[in-house]
Amino acid sequence: MGIKTQLGQVQDDIGKAEKEAGRDEGSVTLIAVSKTFDADHIRPALQVGHRVFGENRVQEAKGKWPELLEEFPDTQLHLIGPLQSNKSKEAVALFDVIHTVDRPKIARAIRLEMEKQNRNLDLFVQINTGDEPQKAGISVQDADDFIAFCRNELALPIKGLMCIPPFDEDPSPHFKILAEIAARNDLEELSMGMSGDYQEAIKAGASHVRVGSAIFGKRDYPA
Ligand SMILES: *Cc1c(COP(=O)(O)O)cnc(C)c1O
Repeated sequence: MGIKTQLGQVQDDIGKAEKEAGRDEGSVTLIAVSKTFDADHIRPALQVGHRVFGENRVQEAKGKWPELLEEFPDTQLHLIGPLQSNKSKEAVALFDVIHTVDRPKIARAIRLEMEKQNRNLDLFVQINTGDEPQKAGISVQDADDFIAFCRNELALPIKGLMCIPPFDEDPSPHFKILAEIAARNDLEELSMGMSGDYQEAIKAGASHVRVGSAIFGKRDYPA
């Protein structure tokens, strides 16, 4: 199956899941995760009108997106991978949304760059819902304080929360934890759900699903 067909299939499935969950049609944003794929592989999705894409590495995105953005300037780019503070300048310049704000240092770096570049990105705080030591994200325990810090000390436009559940566990409890933290902090948006579990995530309230391999096919190398 080609990318256009697969993208259509995912869009249909999202529509069904929205309906089943009693949610408005079109209330879920599909982020097509194009990491590891080159510009020629991504272009068909743009040609059929898709405009929201996710990448997990700043350097890789810088290599392929400028030419695509020239062709399709109304595209919205989401950074969904960990951000190092020395890459924050480039990230703020290229991306429209960052999903991986997870520590004070990176929050400060983003604040500084948004001011310098006069850009206002939408931001998500990444929560390590499984409290996995190797995984990015603020711990569940520190989440409320960190969200308050981002808002009150830095006046950052935090729109919602993001999580990547442990890959060998049922994701539902993690989606639920994320939704609970968002609700008690008055945050509307939830970035959760990937190729294997986006329908479930939509039932749990996802506003953004991040779907890669179900659209672009299997990645040749790990991202
Ligand atoms: C790669 C990636 C995805 C997409 O994963 P698939 O299983 O290919 O859909 C989603 N979120 C993040 C943070 C990723 O790095």
